[in-house]
Amino acid sequence: MTPPPGYILIRPETLAGVQKAVEAALGTSAAECLAAGGRAGGAVATAALQGDAASRAQRLLSAGREIGWGDFALERLTPTTLVVTVAGSPFARAYGAASGPVCHLTRGVLEALAATVLATPARLVETACAATGAAVCRFESVA
Ligand SMILES: [Zn+2]
Repeated sequence: MTPPPGYILIRPETLAGVQKAVEAALGTSAAECLAAGGRAGGAVATAALQGDAASRAQRLLSAGREIGWGDFALERLTPTTLVVTVAGSPFARAYGAASGPVCHLTRGVLEALAATVLATPARLVETACAATGAAVCRFESVA
């Protein structure tokens, strides 16, 4: 099992362990720490994208699928709105049942994408998460 160039393999259970420890230490601000990590990796990923906004978005979502982050689907992309769903998030699965969304790493990556495909940078909110029993995780930009 050789990861693609520039990547390492890491079990989602390892990341869930980090996430739960950071949550225990920091409480609700842990989510933003994890999203910051997602934004850092997402910045590298989005820097390599070419083409118009739609093709850059589709390329990043395809890459997410290819590296095992779940089945990404672009639900809506306009100059001011980005909505992405992810089926089978390994982060939600590894975390287990939760009372709120847990896919903060994915959210951060999608915030990096939003920064490159929207007219103005936007925060994203995970409005549904498989860890809370939703069918898919859903990420929506908020102005
Ligand atoms: Zn989720």
